[in-house]
Amino acid sequence: METTLQKRDQATSDGVRTSVEWWNVLSRAWGIWWTRNAGDAAVAAAASRRTTELIEFARAKSAFYRDAWKALPSGSISLRDLPVVTKRELMRRFDDWVTDRSVHRRGVERFLEDRRHIGEPFLGRFVVWKSSGSTGEPGIFVQDRAALATYDALLAVQLQSSRLAGSYAWGLLAQGGRAALIAATGDHFASIASWQRVCRGTPWPNARAFSVMDPLPKLVAALNEYQPTFLASYPTTLALLAAEQREGRLRIAPSCVWSGGEYLSPTTHIAIEQAFDATLVNEYGASECMSIAFSCATGNLHVNADWVVLEPVDRNYRPTPPGEPSHTVLLTNLANCIQPVIRYDLGDSVTASATPCACGNPLPAIRAEGRRDDVLALQTKDGSIVQLSPLALTTVIEEATANHRFQLVQTAPDRIAVRLGAEDAGERGGEWRAVQRALHAYLAHQSLGNVHLNLDAQAPVPDAPSGKLREVLAAARNGRAPDE
Ligand SMILES: [Zn+2]
Repeated sequence: METTLQKRDQATSDGVRTSVEWWNVLSRAWGIWWTRNAGDAAVAAAASRRTTELIEFARAKSAFYRDAWKALPSGSISLRDLPVVTKRELMRRFDDWVTDRSVHRRGVERFLEDRRHIGEPFLGRFVVWKSSGSTGEPGIFVQDRAALATYDALLAVQLQSSRLAGSYAWGLLAQGGRAALIAATGDHFASIASWQRVCRGTPWPNARAFSVMDPLPKLVAALNEYQPTFLASYPTTLALLAAEQREGRLRIAPSCVWSGGEYLSPTTHIAIEQAFDATLVNEYGASECMSIAFSCATGNLHVNADWVVLEPVDRNYRPTPPGEPSHTVLLTNLANCIQPVIRYDLGDSVTASATPCACGNPLPAIRAEGRRDDVLALQTKDGSIVQLSPLALTTVIEEATANHRFQLVQTAPDRIAVRLGAEDAGERGGEWRAVQRALHAYLAHQSLGNVHLNLDAQAPVPDAPSGKLREVLAAARNGRAPDE
Protein backbone atom coordinates (compact mmCIF):
# COMPACT_ATOMS: atom_id res chain seq x y z
CA MET A 1 0.00 0.00 0.00
CA GLU A 2 1.39 3.35 -0.96
CA THR A 3 0.48 6.04 1.48
CA THR A 4 0.26 9.64 0.42
CA LEU A 5 1.06 11.56 3.54
CA GLN A 6 -1.83 13.09 5.30
CA LYS A 7 -1.63 16.84 5.12
CA ARG A 8 -4.77 17.61 7.08
CA ASP A 9 -2.96 18.83 10.19
CA GLN A 10 -0.86 21.30 8.31
CA ALA A 11 -3.71 23.68 7.73
CA THR A 12 -4.88 23.71 11.35
CA SER A 13 -3.32 25.31 14.38
CA ASP A 14 0.14 24.08 13.38
CA GLY A 15 1.07 27.10 11.30
CA VAL A 16 2.54 29.18 14.11
CA ARG A 17 3.86 26.24 16.08
CA THR A 18 5.72 24.93 13.06
CA SER A 19 7.74 28.08 12.53
CA VAL A 20 8.60 28.18 16.25
CA GLU A 21 9.64 24.54 16.09
CA TRP A 22 11.78 25.18 13.06
CA TRP A 23 13.44 28.02 14.87
CA ASN A 24 14.14 25.55 17.71
CA VAL A 25 15.73 23.12 15.28
CA LEU A 26 17.84 25.81 13.61
CA SER A 27 19.06 27.28 16.88
CA ARG A 28 19.92 23.82 18.17
CA ALA A 29 21.71 22.92 14.94
CA TRP A 30 23.70 26.12 15.28
CA GLY A 31 24.54 25.20 18.91
CA ILE A 32 25.69 21.72 17.89
CA TRP A 33 27.82 23.08 15.05
CA TRP A 34 29.34 25.73 17.32
CA THR A 35 30.13 23.29 20.19
CA ARG A 36 31.69 20.70 17.89
CA ASN A 37 33.83 23.27 16.13
CA ALA A 38 35.13 24.42 19.51
CA GLY A 39 36.67 20.94 20.00
CA ASP A 40 36.58 17.88 22.27
CA ALA A 41 36.66 19.84 25.52
CA ALA A 42 33.60 21.88 24.53
CA VAL A 43 31.67 18.70 23.59
CA ALA A 44 32.62 17.08 26.93
CA ALA A 45 31.66 20.22 28.86
CA ALA A 46 28.26 20.41 27.13
CA ALA A 47 27.58 16.73 27.90
CA SER A 48 28.67 17.13 31.51
CA ARG A 49 26.45 20.19 32.07
CA ARG A 50 23.45 18.46 30.45
CA THR A 51 24.04 15.29 32.49
CA THR A 52 24.00 17.24 35.77
CA GLU A 53 20.83 19.06 34.72
CA LEU A 54 19.09 15.83 33.68
CA ILE A 55 19.98 14.07 36.95
CA GLU A 56 18.68 17.02 38.99
CA PHE A 57 15.52 17.18 36.90
CA ALA A 58 14.84 13.43 37.16
CA ARG A 59 15.35 13.51 40.92
CA ALA A 60 12.90 16.38 41.28
CA LYS A 61 10.22 15.20 38.86
CA SER A 62 10.37 11.39 38.49
CA ALA A 63 9.17 9.31 41.45
CA PHE A 64 10.82 6.26 39.88
CA TYR A 65 14.32 7.78 39.89
CA ARG A 66 13.78 9.38 43.32
CA ASP A 67 13.12 5.91 44.73
CA ALA A 68 15.95 4.27 42.79
CA TRP A 69 18.47 6.84 44.00
CA LYS A 70 17.23 7.32 47.58
CA ALA A 71 20.34 5.73 49.13
CA LEU A 72 22.63 8.17 47.28
CA PRO A 73 23.85 11.47 48.80
CA SER A 74 21.60 14.47 48.22
CA GLY A 75 24.15 16.78 46.52
CA SER A 76 25.49 16.39 43.00
CA ILE A 77 25.88 12.76 41.91
CA SER A 78 28.17 11.42 39.22
CA LEU A 79 26.52 9.50 36.38
CA ARG A 80 28.80 6.50 37.01
CA ASP A 81 27.42 6.17 40.58
CA LEU A 82 23.83 5.75 39.44
CA PRO A 83 22.22 2.30 39.25
CA VAL A 84 21.50 0.74 35.83
CA VAL A 85 17.84 0.69 34.74
CA THR A 86 16.08 -1.75 32.39
CA LYS A 87 13.10 -1.43 30.09
CA ARG A 88 11.12 -3.93 32.14
CA GLU A 89 11.36 -1.98 35.41
CA LEU A 90 10.72 1.38 33.70
CA MET A 91 7.65 0.07 31.87
CA ARG A 92 6.33 -1.49 35.07
CA ARG A 93 6.41 1.92 36.77
CA PHE A 94 5.58 3.99 33.69
CA ASP A 95 3.42 6.57 35.51
CA ASP A 96 6.17 7.14 38.13
CA TRP A 97 8.89 7.26 35.48
CA VAL A 98 7.43 10.12 33.39
CA THR A 99 8.08 13.64 34.64
CA ASP A 100 4.77 15.20 33.52
CA ARG A 101 1.75 14.26 35.66
CA SER A 102 -0.63 14.65 32.70
CA VAL A 103 0.98 11.65 30.96
CA HIS A 104 -0.38 8.26 32.04
CA ARG A 105 0.26 4.85 30.58
CA ARG A 106 -3.46 4.17 30.04
CA GLY A 107 -3.90 7.41 28.13
CA VAL A 108 -0.87 6.72 25.93
CA GLU A 109 -2.05 3.17 25.26
CA ARG A 110 -5.49 4.38 24.25
CA PHE A 111 -3.86 6.89 21.87
CA LEU A 112 -1.61 4.18 20.37
CA GLU A 113 -4.56 1.83 19.79
CA ASP A 114 -5.94 4.22 17.16
CA ARG A 115 -3.72 4.07 14.09
CA ARG A 116 -5.25 7.22 12.67
CA HIS A 117 -3.09 9.05 15.23
CA ILE A 118 0.24 7.90 13.71
CA GLY A 119 2.64 10.84 13.81
CA GLU A 120 0.13 13.13 15.54
CA PRO A 121 1.15 14.83 18.80
CA PHE A 122 -0.12 13.19 21.99
CA LEU A 123 -1.76 15.79 24.29
CA GLY A 124 -0.76 18.29 21.59
CA ARG A 125 2.92 18.27 22.56
CA PHE A 126 4.49 14.79 22.72
CA VAL A 127 5.37 12.22 20.10
CA VAL A 128 4.82 8.63 21.18
CA TRP A 129 5.82 5.34 19.62
CA LYS A 130 6.13 1.72 20.61
CA SER A 131 8.74 -0.93 20.04
CA SER A 132 9.54 -4.42 21.18
CA GLY A 133 13.25 -3.96 20.39
CA SER A 134 15.68 -6.83 20.26
CA THR A 135 14.77 -8.12 23.72
CA GLY A 136 11.14 -8.81 22.77
CA GLU A 137 9.97 -6.71 25.74
CA PRO A 138 7.30 -4.23 24.58
CA GLY A 139 8.07 -0.59 25.30
CA ILE A 140 6.20 2.72 24.96
CA PHE A 141 8.31 5.81 24.37
CA VAL A 142 7.33 9.44 24.79
CA GLN A 143 9.47 12.26 23.37
CA ASP A 144 9.04 15.94 24.17
CA ARG A 145 9.40 18.82 21.72
CA ALA A 146 12.90 19.70 22.86
CA ALA A 147 14.04 16.13 22.20
CA LEU A 148 12.47 16.08 18.73
CA ALA A 149 14.07 19.42 17.86
CA THR A 150 17.42 17.99 18.98
CA TYR A 151 17.09 14.83 16.84
CA ASP A 152 16.15 16.97 13.83
CA ALA A 153 19.06 19.33 14.49
CA LEU A 154 21.52 16.43 14.77
CA LEU A 155 20.34 15.16 11.38
CA ALA A 156 20.48 18.66 9.89
CA VAL A 157 24.08 19.12 11.07
CA GLN A 158 24.95 15.72 9.60
CA LEU A 159 23.36 16.56 6.23
CA GLN A 160 25.25 19.84 6.12
CA SER A 161 28.60 18.21 6.90
CA SER A 162 31.20 18.61 4.20
CA ARG A 163 30.83 15.02 3.02
CA LEU A 164 27.15 15.47 2.28
CA ALA A 165 26.43 19.14 1.76
CA GLY A 166 27.10 18.99 -1.98
CA SER A 167 24.85 16.06 -2.75
CA TYR A 168 22.16 17.29 -0.37
CA ALA A 169 22.00 20.72 -2.04
CA TRP A 170 22.17 19.14 -5.48
CA GLY A 171 19.26 16.86 -4.61
CA LEU A 172 17.13 19.79 -3.48
CA LEU A 173 17.91 21.79 -6.62
CA ALA A 174 18.01 19.16 -9.31
CA GLN A 175 15.12 16.92 -8.41
CA GLY A 176 12.89 19.10 -6.29
CA GLY A 177 13.93 17.33 -3.09
CA ARG A 178 11.56 14.37 -3.40
CA ALA A 179 12.05 12.14 -0.37
CA ALA A 180 10.95 8.52 -0.06
CA LEU A 181 10.76 6.54 3.18
CA ILE A 182 10.20 2.81 2.92
CA ALA A 183 9.14 1.60 6.34
CA ALA A 184 6.52 -0.19 8.38
CA THR A 185 3.83 2.41 7.85
CA GLY A 186 0.88 0.68 9.46
CA ASP A 187 1.50 1.34 13.15
CA HIS A 188 3.11 3.67 15.67
CA PHE A 189 6.79 2.86 15.10
CA ALA A 190 9.56 5.38 15.64
CA SER A 191 10.61 5.73 11.99
CA ILE A 192 7.18 6.34 10.52
CA ALA A 193 5.94 8.43 13.46
CA SER A 194 8.84 10.86 13.15
CA TRP A 195 8.73 10.85 9.35
CA GLN A 196 5.04 11.74 9.30
CA ARG A 197 5.71 14.45 11.86
CA VAL A 198 8.59 15.90 9.86
CA CYS A 199 6.63 15.76 6.60
CA ARG A 200 3.68 17.62 8.09
CA GLY A 201 5.45 20.86 8.77
CA THR A 202 8.76 21.20 6.99
CA PRO A 203 10.20 22.51 3.75
CA TRP A 204 9.95 19.00 2.28
CA PRO A 205 6.76 19.30 0.30
CA ASN A 206 7.53 16.23 -1.77
CA ALA A 207 7.85 13.47 0.78
CA ARG A 208 6.11 10.17 0.53
CA ALA A 209 6.08 7.03 2.65
CA PHE A 210 6.00 3.59 1.02
CA SER A 211 5.12 0.41 2.87
CA VAL A 212 7.83 -2.17 3.45
CA MET A 213 5.01 -4.76 3.33
CA ASP A 214 4.47 -4.25 -0.41
CA PRO A 215 5.81 -6.87 -2.84
CA LEU A 216 9.22 -5.82 -4.15
CA PRO A 217 8.12 -5.44 -7.83
CA LYS A 218 5.32 -3.09 -6.74
CA LEU A 219 7.74 -1.04 -4.62
CA VAL A 220 10.22 -0.87 -7.50
CA ALA A 221 7.52 0.35 -9.90
CA ALA A 222 6.36 3.01 -7.42
CA LEU A 223 9.91 4.27 -6.85
CA ASN A 224 10.62 4.34 -10.60
CA GLU A 225 7.62 6.57 -11.00
CA TYR A 226 8.37 8.78 -7.98
CA GLN A 227 12.15 9.23 -8.66
CA PRO A 228 13.22 10.22 -5.13
CA THR A 229 16.26 12.40 -4.39
CA PHE A 230 16.42 11.13 -0.80
CA LEU A 231 15.87 7.49 -0.10
CA ALA A 232 15.45 6.24 3.47
CA SER A 233 14.87 2.71 4.79
CA TYR A 234 16.23 -0.23 6.76
CA PRO A 235 19.57 -1.72 5.63
CA THR A 236 17.99 -5.05 4.58
CA THR A 237 15.38 -3.27 2.44
CA LEU A 238 18.01 -0.97 0.90
CA ALA A 239 20.15 -4.02 0.08
CA LEU A 240 17.19 -5.59 -1.76
CA LEU A 241 16.60 -2.33 -3.65
CA ALA A 242 20.32 -2.03 -4.46
CA ALA A 243 20.17 -5.47 -6.08
CA GLU A 244 17.12 -4.37 -8.10
CA GLN A 245 19.04 -1.26 -9.21
CA ARG A 246 22.05 -3.35 -10.27
CA GLU A 247 19.75 -5.66 -12.26
CA GLY A 248 18.28 -2.63 -14.03
CA ARG A 249 14.70 -3.11 -12.82
CA LEU A 250 14.97 -0.18 -10.40
CA ARG A 251 16.09 3.03 -12.14
CA ILE A 252 16.42 5.86 -9.62
CA ALA A 253 19.18 8.38 -8.95
CA PRO A 254 19.03 9.45 -5.28
CA SER A 255 21.76 11.81 -4.13
CA CYS A 256 21.48 10.78 -0.46
CA VAL A 257 20.50 7.47 1.04
CA TRP A 258 19.68 7.14 4.76
CA SER A 259 19.56 3.87 6.63
CA GLY A 260 18.67 3.00 10.18
CA GLY A 261 16.87 0.56 12.45
CA GLU A 262 19.06 -2.49 11.86
CA TYR A 263 22.70 -3.56 11.77
CA LEU A 264 24.48 -2.40 8.59
CA SER A 265 27.57 -4.39 7.62
CA PRO A 266 30.50 -2.62 5.89
CA THR A 267 29.97 -4.79 2.75
CA THR A 268 26.29 -3.88 2.55
CA HIS A 269 27.19 -0.21 3.11
CA ILE A 270 29.52 -0.26 0.09
CA ALA A 271 27.08 -2.29 -2.05
CA ILE A 272 24.28 0.23 -1.47
CA GLU A 273 26.51 3.25 -2.19
CA GLN A 274 27.84 1.67 -5.39
CA ALA A 275 24.44 0.59 -6.70
CA PHE A 276 22.99 4.09 -6.32
CA ASP A 277 26.23 6.02 -6.83
CA ALA A 278 25.18 8.04 -3.78
CA THR A 279 26.38 8.76 -0.25
CA LEU A 280 24.83 6.55 2.41
CA VAL A 281 24.35 7.90 5.91
CA ASN A 282 23.69 5.24 8.48
CA GLU A 283 22.06 6.46 11.67
CA TYR A 284 22.39 4.37 14.80
CA GLY A 285 19.36 5.10 16.93
CA ALA A 286 16.83 3.42 19.17
CA SER A 287 13.28 3.99 20.30
CA GLU A 288 14.82 5.33 23.54
CA CYS A 289 16.92 7.88 21.61
CA MET A 290 16.31 8.49 17.91
CA SER A 291 19.80 9.67 17.09
CA ILE A 292 22.72 8.07 18.92
CA ALA A 293 25.41 8.17 16.20
CA PHE A 294 26.01 8.67 12.45
CA SER A 295 28.33 6.75 10.17
CA CYS A 296 31.29 8.34 8.41
CA ALA A 297 32.96 7.30 5.16
CA THR A 298 35.02 4.62 6.98
CA GLY A 299 31.86 2.87 8.20
CA ASN A 300 32.56 3.83 11.83
CA LEU A 301 29.73 5.40 13.81
CA HIS A 302 30.43 8.72 15.53
CA VAL A 303 28.51 9.18 18.77
CA ASN A 304 26.58 12.44 19.19
CA ALA A 305 28.57 12.84 22.40
CA ASP A 306 27.20 16.32 23.13
CA TRP A 307 23.66 14.86 23.48
CA VAL A 308 24.20 11.17 24.29
CA VAL A 309 26.33 9.26 26.82
CA LEU A 310 27.17 5.69 25.80
CA GLU A 311 28.96 3.33 28.22
CA PRO A 312 30.02 -0.04 26.75
CA VAL A 313 29.93 -2.55 29.67
CA ASP A 314 30.33 -6.26 30.43
CA ARG A 315 27.56 -8.51 31.80
CA ASN A 316 28.24 -7.18 35.33
CA TYR A 317 27.96 -3.59 34.06
CA ARG A 318 31.70 -2.95 34.43
CA PRO A 319 33.33 -0.78 31.70
CA THR A 320 34.53 -2.64 28.58
CA PRO A 321 37.89 -1.29 27.34
CA PRO A 322 38.15 0.24 23.81
CA GLY A 323 38.77 -2.33 21.09
CA GLU A 324 36.69 -5.06 22.78
CA PRO A 325 33.03 -5.78 21.99
CA SER A 326 30.83 -5.03 25.00
CA HIS A 327 28.13 -7.31 26.39
CA THR A 328 25.67 -4.43 26.42
CA VAL A 329 25.74 -0.65 26.42
CA LEU A 330 24.29 1.87 28.88
CA LEU A 331 22.48 4.76 27.25
CA THR A 332 21.85 8.20 28.74
CA ASN A 333 19.75 10.43 26.49
CA LEU A 334 20.46 14.07 27.35
CA ALA A 335 17.79 15.43 24.99
CA ASN A 336 14.52 14.05 26.40
CA CYS A 337 13.10 15.16 29.77
CA ILE A 338 9.57 13.72 29.73
CA GLN A 339 10.83 10.13 30.05
CA PRO A 340 14.41 10.33 31.35
CA VAL A 341 16.65 7.55 30.03
CA ILE A 342 19.62 7.41 32.41
CA ARG A 343 22.12 4.51 32.43
CA TYR A 344 19.61 2.37 30.55
CA ASP A 345 20.59 -1.15 29.51
CA LEU A 346 20.10 -0.92 25.74
CA GLY A 347 21.16 -4.51 24.98
CA ASP A 348 23.40 -3.72 21.97
CA SER A 349 27.00 -4.85 21.72
CA VAL A 350 29.27 -1.88 20.97
CA THR A 351 33.01 -1.72 20.29
CA ALA A 352 34.61 1.63 21.06
CA SER A 353 37.47 2.46 18.73
CA ALA A 354 40.88 2.39 20.43
CA THR A 355 42.36 4.88 17.93
CA PRO A 356 41.11 8.15 16.41
CA CYS A 357 38.99 7.63 13.29
CA ALA A 358 40.78 8.05 9.97
CA CYS A 359 38.06 10.43 8.76
CA GLY A 360 39.24 13.10 11.23
CA ASN A 361 35.90 13.47 13.04
CA PRO A 362 36.83 13.93 16.72
CA LEU A 363 33.52 12.56 18.06
CA PRO A 364 34.02 9.10 19.66
CA ALA A 365 33.99 6.30 17.06
CA ILE A 366 32.24 2.99 17.68
CA ARG A 367 31.01 -0.10 15.85
CA ALA A 368 27.57 -1.32 16.90
CA GLU A 369 25.84 -4.65 16.50
CA GLY A 370 22.16 -3.78 16.42
CA ARG A 371 19.24 -5.79 15.16
CA ARG A 372 20.59 -8.45 12.85
CA ASP A 373 17.92 -10.49 11.13
CA ASP A 374 18.10 -12.34 7.83
CA VAL A 375 16.38 -11.62 4.53
CA LEU A 376 14.36 -14.73 3.60
CA ALA A 377 14.46 -16.02 0.01
CA LEU A 378 11.33 -18.12 -0.53
CA GLN A 379 10.22 -20.13 -3.55
CA THR A 380 6.89 -19.55 -5.26
CA LYS A 381 4.75 -22.33 -6.77
CA ASP A 382 6.33 -21.78 -10.21
CA GLY A 383 9.88 -21.94 -8.81
CA SER A 384 10.85 -18.26 -8.81
CA ILE A 385 12.40 -16.69 -5.70
CA VAL A 386 10.87 -13.84 -3.69
CA GLN A 387 12.99 -12.08 -1.07
CA LEU A 388 11.31 -10.76 2.08
CA SER A 389 12.58 -8.05 4.38
CA PRO A 390 12.84 -9.21 8.02
CA LEU A 391 11.33 -5.91 9.20
CA ALA A 392 8.19 -6.62 7.15
CA LEU A 393 7.89 -10.14 8.56
CA THR A 394 8.35 -9.06 12.18
CA THR A 395 5.87 -6.22 11.69
CA VAL A 396 3.23 -8.68 10.45
CA ILE A 397 3.59 -10.75 13.62
CA GLU A 398 3.86 -7.82 16.02
CA GLU A 399 0.61 -6.45 14.63
CA ALA A 400 -1.14 -9.81 14.92
CA THR A 401 -0.18 -10.78 18.46
CA ALA A 402 0.18 -9.32 21.93
CA ASN A 403 3.18 -11.46 22.86
CA HIS A 404 6.18 -10.02 21.10
CA ARG A 405 8.56 -12.90 21.73
CA PHE A 406 8.80 -15.05 18.61
CA GLN A 407 11.21 -16.38 16.00
CA LEU A 408 10.78 -17.36 12.35
CA VAL A 409 13.12 -19.98 10.92
CA GLN A 410 13.15 -20.86 7.22
CA THR A 411 13.56 -24.63 7.06
CA ALA A 412 13.11 -25.28 3.33
CA PRO A 413 12.66 -23.16 0.16
CA ASP A 414 8.91 -23.05 0.87
CA ARG A 415 8.71 -23.63 4.62
CA ILE A 416 8.84 -21.45 7.71
CA ALA A 417 8.83 -22.74 11.29
CA VAL A 418 7.34 -20.38 13.86
CA ARG A 419 8.58 -20.37 17.46
CA LEU A 420 6.36 -18.62 19.98
CA GLY A 421 7.29 -17.37 23.44
CA ALA A 422 3.85 -17.91 25.02
CA GLU A 423 3.93 -20.83 27.49
CA ASP A 424 0.28 -21.11 28.50
CA ALA A 425 -1.38 -23.65 26.15
CA GLY A 426 -4.53 -21.60 25.57
CA GLU A 427 -2.60 -18.39 24.89
CA ARG A 428 -0.19 -20.29 22.64
CA GLY A 429 -3.05 -21.73 20.57
CA GLY A 430 -4.61 -18.29 20.13
CA GLU A 431 -1.30 -16.69 19.16
CA TRP A 432 -0.56 -19.45 16.65
CA ARG A 433 -3.93 -19.00 14.93
CA ALA A 434 -3.40 -15.23 14.76
CA VAL A 435 0.16 -15.60 13.41
CA GLN A 436 -0.95 -18.16 10.80
CA ARG A 437 -3.76 -15.93 9.59
CA ALA A 438 -1.60 -12.80 9.35
CA LEU A 439 1.46 -14.50 7.82
CA HIS A 440 -0.59 -16.42 5.26
CA ALA A 441 -2.30 -13.21 4.15
CA TYR A 442 1.04 -11.39 3.87
CA LEU A 443 2.72 -14.27 2.01
CA ALA A 444 -0.20 -14.61 -0.41
CA HIS A 445 0.17 -10.90 -1.19
CA GLN A 446 3.82 -11.63 -2.15
CA SER A 447 2.80 -14.53 -4.51
CA LEU A 448 3.90 -16.97 -1.78
CA GLY A 449 0.52 -18.53 -0.92
CA ASN A 450 2.20 -21.94 -1.34
CA VAL A 451 4.56 -21.44 1.64
CA HIS A 452 3.90 -23.90 4.45
CA LEU A 453 3.91 -22.69 8.07
CA ASN A 454 4.34 -24.91 11.10
CA LEU A 455 4.44 -24.28 14.83
CA ASP A 456 7.77 -25.33 16.30
CA ALA A 457 7.53 -27.01 19.73
CA GLN A 458 10.66 -25.14 20.77
CA ALA A 459 10.62 -21.64 22.30
CA PRO A 460 12.61 -18.84 20.54
CA VAL A 461 16.36 -19.41 20.93
CA PRO A 462 18.51 -16.34 21.65
CA ASP A 463 21.98 -16.05 20.14
CA ALA A 464 24.92 -17.10 22.27
CA PRO A 465 26.76 -15.33 23.81
CA SER A 466 24.94 -12.00 23.34
CA GLY A 467 21.57 -13.32 24.55
CA LYS A 468 19.89 -11.24 21.84
CA LEU A 469 16.96 -12.71 20.01
CA ARG A 470 17.22 -12.71 16.23
CA GLU A 471 13.62 -12.92 15.10
CA VAL A 472 14.10 -13.97 11.45
CA LEU A 473 16.61 -16.68 10.54
CA ALA A 474 17.39 -17.98 7.06
CA ALA A 475 17.78 -21.74 6.76
CA ALA A 476 21.51 -21.77 6.17
CA ARG A 477 22.29 -20.05 9.46
CA ASN A 478 20.13 -22.29 11.62
CA GLY A 479 22.03 -25.24 13.05
CA ARG A 480 19.10 -27.40 14.05
CA ALA A 481 15.99 -28.51 12.15
CA PRO A 482 12.92 -27.39 14.11
CA ASP A 483 10.23 -29.91 15.01
CA GLU A 484 7.35 -30.40 12.63
ZN1 LIG B 1 35.05 8.53 11.09
